[in-house]
Amino acid sequence: MSKQPSNRATEQPSIAKRLDGIQLSLIRQINALATSESINLGIGEPNIEPDETLRRLATRAASTGSWHYSANAGALSLRKKICERFGCNPKTEICVTAGTQEALYAIFQAYVDDGDEILVPNPGFVSYPTLARLAGGVPVPYDIEPPDWKVDLKSLLSKITKRTKLIVVNWPSNPLGAVIDRETLQAVADAGPLVVSDEIYREIWYDAPPPSMLGMSKNVIVVDGMSKSHSMTGLRLGWIIAEEELMKPIITAHQYIATCASVFSQQLTELIFDAKEWNTSWLERVRAQLRDQREAALYSIEHELQTKIPPPAGAFYTFVPIPACDTIIFAKTLATDAGVLVIPGVAFGKMGEGFVRISFAAPVETIGIGIERMARWLRAAGK
Ligand code: PMP
Repeated sequence: MSKQPSNRATEQPSIAKRLDGIQLSLIRQINALATSESINLGIGEPNIEPDETLRRLATRAASTGSWHYSANAGALSLRKKICERFGCNPKTEICVTAGTQEALYAIFQAYVDDGDEILVPNPGFVSYPTLARLAGGVPVPYDIEPPDWKVDLKSLLSKITKRTKLIVVNWPSNPLGAVIDRETLQAVADAGPLVVSDEIYREIWYDAPPPSMLGMSKNVIVVDGMSKSHSMTGLRLGWIIAEEELMKPIITAHQYIATCASVFSQQLTELIFDAKEWNTSWLERVRAQLRDQREAALYSIEHELQTKIPPPAGAFYTFVPIPACDTIIFAKTLATDAGVLVIPGVAFGKMGEGFVRISFAAPVETIGIGIERMARWLRAAGK
């Protein structure tokens, strides 16, 4: 006799409580509205393809390199090369990760306990508050003030309590493109709690290299990687630099998340760092192309949207005020009606309401057409 099928098989399993209230980010939601016709100014990666040399290095990495696990912290040969650039101890002070995102996740898993407070920039990169919540912590936003996006240091320091575990800083900033002075960073480094300095955009600057927090204090953990500087977002290669004792639990967390970063990406990164001259000229070309695109975006923002904003000093984002309207509805309607993708500022925190993030990681003509369409749509809507 056949058994009655159990209802259990059709019941939805309950989702883990730690995911309560956590959804795919608004950036993903807006990008999901893209069609092949869309003008995409919502992009979070450089519109730069590998040149012939980079492809050749990748072929070499794939054909001659190892296919086996590396040490959890990354191949020692790569760690040595990264530490040559950044002045750390390759044996104890660096961990190579599957992108900066994994680096941040490992740090939060290693240090955040239930109820711990994590100071996060507002507006700031969408992952920080979510990573805090996933680890059981409470994100506490600190404001970055328009129009020139400065940190009010006193106000930031006043948010530190006994429960503050981490302060997250990110300059050049996603979504603002702003950078900050060394003195403010030093004051944050000296404030007491651990500091996570997300320096993923540090190679992308327009006037002068932005300051790093590396070495500012024993409390500082720096994360960085190849995604933005080398257009390697899909290859997932990042790293963490911190003093030995801070690093130990992070490597333990990283072991259970990723085991090790892709050895192909590790080998490619080594070859890139070996090709010093090419690497310097690659970074110059990346900055030159993005600088031209930045000029195009600033021009269109001024002439089409009638708004003058401070030129972003790094990364490839502009954060642009939009006349009174709900910017989530604005961005969704703009995507469906005008075929232009921009990210509502509120995706990055409450301080972002009233703004949209326009990425200029797109060809100059596309930037012009996208912003012109946006202006036309706003005029038609009487804004
Ligand atoms: N930090 C910031 C500020 C970012 O903008 C991003 C990517 N958008 C990341 C970290 C993650 O980068 P990846 O994991 O590709 O290194």
